Amino acid sequence: MSNNKSLLAVRGMNDILPPDSSQWITIEVHARKHFEQYGYNEVRLPILESTNLFERGIGEDTDIVEKEMYTFLDKKERSLTLRPEMTASCVRAYIQHHVYKHETTSRWYYMGPMFRYERMQSGRYRQFHQIGVEAFGVTSPSLDAEMIEMLYRFYVNLGISNLTMNINSVGSDKDRNVYRTVIVERLEPYKEELCTNCQRRLTTNTLRILDCKIKKCIEIVTHLPPLSQYLSTESKAYFDFVQESLSLMNTPYALNPSLVRGLDYYTSIVFECAVTQEKTSILAGGGRYDNFVEQLGGVSTSAVGFAMGTERTLMAMPSHKNNASLDVFIVHYGDHAKTQAIQIAQTLRNINLCVGVEHRSTSLKSQLKQANKLNAIYVIIIGDDELQHNSVTLKTMKTGTEHSILQSELKNKLKELLA
Ligand code: ATP
Ligand code: MG
Repeated sequence: MSNNKSLLAVRGMNDILPPDSSQWITIEVHARKHFEQYGYNEVRLPILESTNLFERGIGEDTDIVEKEMYTFLDKKERSLTLRPEMTASCVRAYIQHHVYKHETTSRWYYMGPMFRYERMQSGRYRQFHQIGVEAFGVTSPSLDAEMIEMLYRFYVNLGISNLTMNINSVGSDKDRNVYRTVIVERLEPYKEELCTNCQRRLTTNTLRILDCKIKKCIEIVTHLPPLSQYLSTESKAYFDFVQESLSLMNTPYALNPSLVRGLDYYTSIVFECAVTQEKTSILAGGGRYDNFVEQLGGVSTSAVGFAMGTERTLMAMPSHKNNASLDVFIVHYGDHAKTQAIQIAQTLRNINLCVGVEHRSTSLKSQLKQANKLNAIYVIIIGDDELQHNSVTLKTMKTGTEHSILQSELKNKLKELLA
């Protein structure tokens, strides 16, 4: 029995077809240029990793590891997982290739699909894409500030300016230990009202309670003193320096004491970039994670990074018409003109022009319509008449003007016109 369902893409995983793909290319080209301006180079890492990496890296008590991973056994019964994010993979690669031995600072960027088994809604998919950066080897608030500025500028240059850059500091390990004791004490009377996960977290991973998405827990957490009150002098000074640098660079930011972003691997500065006044639209998030490399077995190396969601970035971008255009479209009529048209197309592509040619033998009128639809700047018309005189008719689409030109002069003429 045939089963049509099996012919559909997996739920939550989207096909990206033209012309939509052109906007993706716009973002990706922009990202490469933008990050390279700040000295970042691309890393390309496998989509599959050992499950172990994410369990140890992201933390067993996180949404991702608890319920969102696509995990399966391969033919040798090894547990593999489709990457749900890329920081853990970057750290794994950084350690595996002893990168710290070859350079003191590494600045990486990446882009690609990530996988999370989530409840789908607008802007939330099971295969989605991230573009992110990681900088290894430097502990300096100026780097954190530069990275936040880089993220802000990335969006502004893409035409997205109604942004809020939320920033916070989650302090040092010591600061958090102090804070943990405080909130355990404060939460004790409300223990029964917390969700079962948070009740468990009281003894296992207390700070994660601050990140719980359950309404009742959010209400209880609102009344807790913020972590910012428990920052050491050093942590405060670091955070102050980040803020001063951002002000100097005219990068707007908002202090958000409740921003914690899954406290498992973050240390010190955390940040999130959201579309202003749209509660649901968090475009990107990141922070400093100075313990992560060591925690995964590497030599202690500080690091800071962020990841942005490409789909959500696209949704926030001002919609723009697909302006991609052809330099030349070649139309033909008569029996022999088509072979000539194909040869002319080849000649013009050899001088790097974008050339379309009609392969069907349709009417001149419908071919011209096609040229219009494809946004061609020039049209070359070749028919029996033109063939006889070794010429073509060159039409400028914008003005509608036409003139005859010898085929031998065509290449240079177009070079000149399109320069
Ligand atoms: P959320 O709280 O929305 O679940 P998150 O904290 O899980 O976000 P991160 O892991 O920080 O998200 O990922 C960084 C960015 O990747 C997000 O800000 C978002 O733009 C994007 N992102 C995360 N999960 C998804 C998803 N399932 N579908 C689309 N984009 C996503
Ligand atoms: Mg999530």
